[in-house]
Amino acid sequence: MDYSAFFNSALDSLRLEGRYRIFAEIERIAGSFPKARYHHGGRVRDVIVWCSNDYLGMGQNDKVRAAMHRSIDLSGAGAGGTRNIAGTNHSHVLLERELADLHGKQAALLFGSGYVSNWAALSTLAAKLPDCVVFSDAGNHASMIEGIRHSRAEYKIFRHNNPNDLERCLSEIEPDRAKLVAFESVYSMDGDIAPIAELCDVAERHGALTYLDEVHAVGLYGRRGAGIAERDGVMDRLTIIQGTLGKAFGVVGGYIASSTPVVDFVRSFASGFIFTTALPPMLAAGALASVRHLKESQWERKAQQDRVRLLRDRLDDRGIPHKSNPSHIVPVMVGDPTLCRTVSNRLLDDYDIYIQPINYPTVPRGTERLRITPSPLHSRADVEILVEALDEVWDQTSLPRTRTIRLTKPQRVAAHALLAKEPAICRGCRTILQMVGGAIGGDQSSNVAPGLV
Ligand code: PLP
Repeated sequence: MDYSAFFNSALDSLRLEGRYRIFAEIERIAGSFPKARYHHGGRVRDVIVWCSNDYLGMGQNDKVRAAMHRSIDLSGAGAGGTRNIAGTNHSHVLLERELADLHGKQAALLFGSGYVSNWAALSTLAAKLPDCVVFSDAGNHASMIEGIRHSRAEYKIFRHNNPNDLERCLSEIEPDRAKLVAFESVYSMDGDIAPIAELCDVAERHGALTYLDEVHAVGLYGRRGAGIAERDGVMDRLTIIQGTLGKAFGVVGGYIASSTPVVDFVRSFASGFIFTTALPPMLAAGALASVRHLKESQWERKAQQDRVRLLRDRLDDRGIPHKSNPSHIVPVMVGDPTLCRTVSNRLLDDYDIYIQPINYPTVPRGTERLRITPSPLHSRADVEILVEALDEVWDQTSLPRTRTIRLTKPQRVAAHALLAKEPAICRGCRTILQMVGGAIGGDQSSNVAPGLV
């Protein structure tokens, strides 16, 4: 076989579709986030990053950095082994206790990343629970899907954020079989939020375990930053809460929190936990400082929400289409992979603004977007500069503008009700109503780009 020809032709087809991934080489500047140095073509210049998942800038927090410096001086660079063989450091144990307390659970377990924690926990539980069926939200992250598939357990996919469809799927399964319902709280690309209480109602009625991925919510929601389940007062209803230390907590690593027997079971049977070197102690120490800080401090969450609101308002003023949602994620919709790359390149080359284009398979084809994540460290002036730049690039690329529809709450409720009542509604109208109805409960306006739906 001509292996090179195979690899090159696969890569060429990605290029042809405009979805070949080009990484921007940046060097984050501690003390000046969201500023970073951009290395390109042998030159270096400063840019503002608008697409980081270090949502609160905890990667440069003084306490986090000091804890990591202290730990590296005390304990050195690496953990020295798997958790079972010389790798369990004091800071791992402290961090697991802190995370269990954060989520109101008896115990927690650390992994190398959020991806590995989902993969290892779900694959172990679904494989080992006898005759288990997994019920997976249609929007679940790749790490959950891979874990479920790897378990070889039977699985059913329920419609995204839809408790009625979950009910339907669960009703088809014999009542005495083991069942595990897996879903996320904040979905990372659309920024929509799961109806956790309603999903728990259904799962409880059918005697199913629940597994909630709070990766895009920990640190950001709830009085102590435990996520949406804390905000909604339902943490105790979830069997397992999973999170990451790599996004709002600003470091790296993943974890699950649950009852002592569940955590002990995963600790004892998950190959993705057992057969790998433990996180370096300095990372655990940094994450510990971050979790402790965000349990108390509210200003990061408040300032972030202020910047998100401001950005949405300014985008509406200019008619730049963005998907309405109740979270901190602002998806600016482009709808074409090549155009999305062009917009991103122009922002970077002409305005020193870095926003990575998001293309298929991360999002469905035709919904290519810029995923903007305002942080408390972006100033209000930064938001104005960003929107000015987007406005100019929108003109240069002749992208469609939106008509901004400012609906009252009763109007949004009526849009939602119409959607529920009229399953045969045409696709375009359904998309418009979903975007409008998505704002129920919030006070945002909703905008719709006729050319994009
Ligand atoms: N779960 C979800 C929903 C994610 O979006 C991601 C990553 O983006 C992960 C898990 C993986 O987390 P980590 O980046 O810590 O591996």
